[in-house]
Amino acid sequence: MGRCLLLIVAFVVSAPVYLFSNSTHLPSEKHVQAAGPDAVRVASNNSAPANHMVGHASTNQTRSSRDIVVGQGQFARPGKQVLAHMVASHSDGPPRHSSHKTARKQPFLNLPAVLPNRVLNVPILMYHHVSSIAAATALNYGLTVTDAGFAAQLSYLAQHHYHTVLLRQVFEAMYHGAPLPSHPIVLTFDDGYLDNYTDALPILRRYHDVAEFNIISAFVGNTVGINSYMTWPQLKTLVTNGMEIGSHTVDHQDLGIVPLTTLRAELRDSRNLLQQRLGVPVQFIAYPSGEPFRHGDVAAEQRVLSLVPMYGYVGGLMDGPITSSSHDARMPFKLWRIRVSGGENIAAYAASLPA
Ligand SMILES: [Zn+2]
Repeated sequence: MGRCLLLIVAFVVSAPVYLFSNSTHLPSEKHVQAAGPDAVRVASNNSAPANHMVGHASTNQTRSSRDIVVGQGQFARPGKQVLAHMVASHSDGPPRHSSHKTARKQPFLNLPAVLPNRVLNVPILMYHHVSSIAAATALNYGLTVTDAGFAAQLSYLAQHHYHTVLLRQVFEAMYHGAPLPSHPIVLTFDDGYLDNYTDALPILRRYHDVAEFNIISAFVGNTVGINSYMTWPQLKTLVTNGMEIGSHTVDHQDLGIVPLTTLRAELRDSRNLLQQRLGVPVQFIAYPSGEPFRHGDVAAEQRVLSLVPMYGYVGGLMDGPITSSSHDARMPFKLWRIRVSGGENIAAYAASLPA
């Protein structure tokens, strides 16, 4: 018992160091706690997408193939966060978490009360499909990197001494001064397509890389249109292989035009379901099609920006309108990304990365 306690303490103390010391060492399965079968259910889990659904996950595309409370949050140093309660005090925020074992495995992140005036330069790439099956439409062609192309890109990153890191590592570096490896880079995947598991994951493993996957929670295990999405066991395998899970809302609606109650549900229910089914913190969100930051007005943007921290998120991933690898620590919910397009040759890929 004493030895067990000692091991737990040792892990808690060393967890941040472990996270930053070597991104190629993946966490072992024992560090990931499975959620029970009684996860919350999301309405319309098998239903067709709503009318507001936007962008690349629309059904008309064709393809062959603390304290969680942030904003007013307390400052928490790495290593101490694991002792924090995983309970939101906001009455409309996330519910109390049931798995305290998870808290000891992977700490929840906290934004500091005062956001520092700091800029961190880390490219965050945005992928969608990885597949060697020919895309049937121009839209999907643009969203699909071939298996060989993806392998060539990861090979390029390795040859040029990039190190793939997780968003939580970027967060800890930005807000708590944690070290990052040289030439850090984040790989993100939007939508949770089945090929992320069948094609991207084996290639990531081959190159000892990690990535973050933004999941549309109601699409998990389903086929919407002709797109198939990863199942819960497959997502679990991503987690046990050291990958990071983010929210891409419940059903990929335009957050700039949905009613307020829907907006709240999109933020709340997606995160809750992912956390409960996968047993890991989910604190980053990718705005579907980058909205409302592409076509929404200022009021719509402010509505989203004011709500995301209330539901336990500590970072928001953009999809345009600009491309940058510089992230302002005072704007955690506007993390810029660099889109990787289908058909992009390695020269274009290299050119999209900061010098
Ligand atoms: Zn998307």
